[in-house]
Amino acid sequence: MPLFHSSDLCEALISGKKLLADGGIGTELIKRGVSRDRILEANTEYTAHVHEIHSEYIAAGADLITCNSFGGFTSSEMNSLVEQGIRIAYSTVNNCTKSIAVMISVHPGQLLQQKSRLAEILTDSKYDGLILLVETCTNLSQTIEAIDILGELNRNRIFVTGFFNADCVMADGTSVEQFVETIGRLNVGALGANCGVAKNNFEELVKRTTSVYHRPSIFQPAGGIPSISVDGHLQYQVSPADFSTNCMQLWSFGASVVGGCCGIGPQHIQAASALRDTIY
Ligand SMILES: [Zn+2]
Repeated sequence: MPLFHSSDLCEALISGKKLLADGGIGTELIKRGVSRDRILEANTEYTAHVHEIHSEYIAAGADLITCNSFGGFTSSEMNSLVEQGIRIAYSTVNNCTKSIAVMISVHPGQLLQQKSRLAEILTDSKYDGLILLVETCTNLSQTIEAIDILGELNRNRIFVTGFFNADCVMADGTSVEQFVETIGRLNVGALGANCGVAKNNFEELVKRTTSVYHRPSIFQPAGGIPSISVDGHLQYQVSPADFSTNCMQLWSFGASVVGGCCGIGPQHIQAASALRDTIY
């Protein structure tokens, strides 16, 4: 099946569709034994794992998947690892029976370091339809600078999510309302929040976002604060059932795309997909 092209995706979101994204690819790789400081290297060292994780999220019901690219673009070696991550995501999608959108996830700081390479990727016809997810933003002016630097790129292809503390304020003191109103003026395709350290503040983040911002939004909460088990594994608190209930709340409060971040695996996405099917 073809890629779910960014322009078709944006149209679907504007028309009110409720879509489901994947979860945290990094924590899924760690679960499979990849060292947490070699997540990007997994694109070449554990290609089969990266493929498998994308496939599992898609089989679980995700409409959008995220390339294993976060933290890259800091050197030419990192650039090629990111590009390998995009190739893996595209080849997984090409073998699917339904259209899936692909996001390349970057931190705004990455964008500022490697804007030319990233701009080349985004304008390469091979990657037509790819969405740029600028995520885990903690600083408003850095986020604006990162988006501005891409210049003429179609802003609909850019999705932006902030990292908010429990009080719905970013590390630089920006409230969720200030964030969405300011970034909203840049006419990006969707914006919202991801990850986070609080267990239950996404309901408030969605409500406060949709009270001042009336275009497509995207929310990808983490699975709570992890504890470390006796055998050294990270254990997240949020169960698939809790996550799926939370997704339904976020959609009902007006979120367009809901997915997960750290600690949200294919089982969580499957539970959310099953619940969504009963209502939407
Ligand atoms: Zn996260």
